[in-house]
Amino acid sequence: VAELGTPTRCVITTCAYCGVGCSFKAEMNGDQLVRMVPWRHGKANRGHSCVKGRFAYGYASHKDRILNPMIRDTIDEPWREVSWDEALSFAATRMKAIQQKHGRRSVGVITSSRCTNEETYLVQKLTRAVFGNNNTDTCARVCHSPTGYGLGKTFGTSAGTQDFDSVEHTDVVLIIGANPTDGHPVFASRLKKRLRQGAKLIVVDPRRTDIVRSAHVEAAHHLPLRPGTNVAVVSALAHVIVTEGLMDEAYIREACDWDEFQHYAEFIGDPRHSPEAVEGVTGVPAAELRAAARLFATGGNGAIYYGLGVTEHSQGSTTVMAIANLAMLTGNIGRPGVGVNPLRGQNNVQGACDMGSFPHELPGYRHVKLPDVRAIFEKAWGVEIDPEPGLRIPNMLDAAVEGTFKGLYCQGEDILQSDPDTHHVAAGLKAMECVIVHDLFLNETANYAHVFLPGSSFLEKDGTFTNAERRINRVRKVMQPRNGYEDWEITQMLANAMGAGWRYTHPAQIMEEISSTTPSFTGVSYERLEELGSVQWPCDENAPEGTPIMHVNGFQAGRGRFIITEYVATEERTGPRFPLLLTTGRILSQYNVGAQTRRTENTVWHEEDVLEIHPHDAEVRGVTEGDWVRLASRTGETTLRAVLTDRVSPGVVYTTFHHPATQANVVTTDFSDWATNCPEYKVTAVQVSPSNGP
Ligand code: SF4
Repeated sequence: VAELGTPTRCVITTCAYCGVGCSFKAEMNGDQLVRMVPWRHGKANRGHSCVKGRFAYGYASHKDRILNPMIRDTIDEPWREVSWDEALSFAATRMKAIQQKHGRRSVGVITSSRCTNEETYLVQKLTRAVFGNNNTDTCARVCHSPTGYGLGKTFGTSAGTQDFDSVEHTDVVLIIGANPTDGHPVFASRLKKRLRQGAKLIVVDPRRTDIVRSAHVEAAHHLPLRPGTNVAVVSALAHVIVTEGLMDEAYIREACDWDEFQHYAEFIGDPRHSPEAVEGVTGVPAAELRAAARLFATGGNGAIYYGLGVTEHSQGSTTVMAIANLAMLTGNIGRPGVGVNPLRGQNNVQGACDMGSFPHELPGYRHVKLPDVRAIFEKAWGVEIDPEPGLRIPNMLDAAVEGTFKGLYCQGEDILQSDPDTHHVAAGLKAMECVIVHDLFLNETANYAHVFLPGSSFLEKDGTFTNAERRINRVRKVMQPRNGYEDWEITQMLANAMGAGWRYTHPAQIMEEISSTTPSFTGVSYERLEELGSVQWPCDENAPEGTPIMHVNGFQAGRGRFIITEYVATEERTGPRFPLLLTTGRILSQYNVGAQTRRTENTVWHEEDVLEIHPHDAEVRGVTEGDWVRLASRTGETTLRAVLTDRVSPGVVYTTFHHPATQANVVTTDFSDWATNCPEYKVTAVQVSPSNGP
């Protein structure tokens, strides 16, 4: 701070890492960022922060930033720096040529859940109004797409039900497949405070995460399930509640579809769902499951928090629906202290989904096949919208390998490193005739790109992010974009190079368009955000100041729906060659593939990925603490160091995916959620053997 001088001004903005959405004061000396100070009036964080938000912003000025556009005719050639005009003209000419030759559906877009709402809205508009198809997807595909599907089917709204404040009224916290201490640290602190005050904790996780046993916190029940058996565990909890008569019948009659409930009760009451019947499959002792079910049903206000350990499975959407069933069954909806709360990984996963960056949905989760929905956007945009849903990310890559998908605009997303089955992603990218990467850095995907458009960091742009509690927070420009343009401007320039004629001059205008076309956003404007600080959607004439807790007087979209959730084992099986199950996660100090955190001048960020293995499994393989090991699956292999720990059960190993040197996704499979294609990152059959190192 001394070197950077005394701050002379400050700008309130929002952290661009996780879905907690902490507010910060960016303290500036001229155009120099002196420090980030957590803002005490921030409604999501109330003056708290974690190390990433507070210290890991150095990447914005890192020497690796690319500041000028670049093009090349083939991916074997070196990059040529060119003007913005030349790069955009090159990109537009190639994309138009591809569409003329291969049809309008031969190109598409992938955007990032790190981008602002306004950027995301423009990218899906580019796809639909300029490219003329629905091939638009977001990296939410690989994390929380099952949340959108599952909560939409059961509750009628694809979002978490509560605000963060709600946890202060919770008596029993059920955490499934989430590690808030590392993934959502500021919310984890509030959660732990409530636990220290006496709330009970149930954790469903194959790994003994920090929250299971930390200072002054001890879970009443840790259910260390075998990876891939979430549905069996949640169904067993529901089975106990139904067969022991612990459900909240009055709530179900009042708020839910009673006929569907009766059908569900018959299904879930079947003995095949009992804790005793599933013990062999899940690995969780039946007595523990029964005790946990009784605690959740009778312990007072029960709140469910879940993460990617739920969604990133072949039954991700089924588990989300099973969780929703459990909440309705126990009447834990519609008041403080209860609810279903997906902990969103990235800063704007909620917003990316809200903004229609899915190939089947326009903004506001409305299906593109519905003529009256298309009519709203056709009138606003002055174009005809393709009624056919587009391709999801994995379908785009499959189609590229097959030769029918030829052009991709990839904004803020390193699909080569973050998507499963790296070799298949590379083959898809290599087969395309035009790949446009729009990013801060020459990421791994850019190795296959023909056009590189330099992006702006969150410090260099205006816009909004929507956090895990549906809170729309302002992102404010702290300094001028080092690359010359904000990201929404770059998308607009690309659209105009294709002939669009867009004339936005500020993201506030984009938000006006969003609120005029999207019912749950009709009350959202930059003026309202200035006035209130932030708002939680739905924000409309019925709730002009937003909606902290949803479904208070019954479900907002009709009656709650119990969905049948049959457990189906993943196709990924262990066997003699691959006898262990790998599951993955994050550490506090790193973020996803590390593109930002690894480029911050602080050595703590540079920890390597390691493999956690139970001492018994290590011993039989001749592996000792710190040894290099080879981690191999049916898909690929990598090398990393072993850490011996009983955090994981025998038969289970665990690693993180933060470092390109490890490329953990080389080993993950291409199995995915049946409803949404969210990859099954959390279950891979592997073998571990001693190695001499990479
Ligand atoms: Fe940023 Fe999340 Fe940390 Fe808050 S908890 S500072 S939003 S990374």
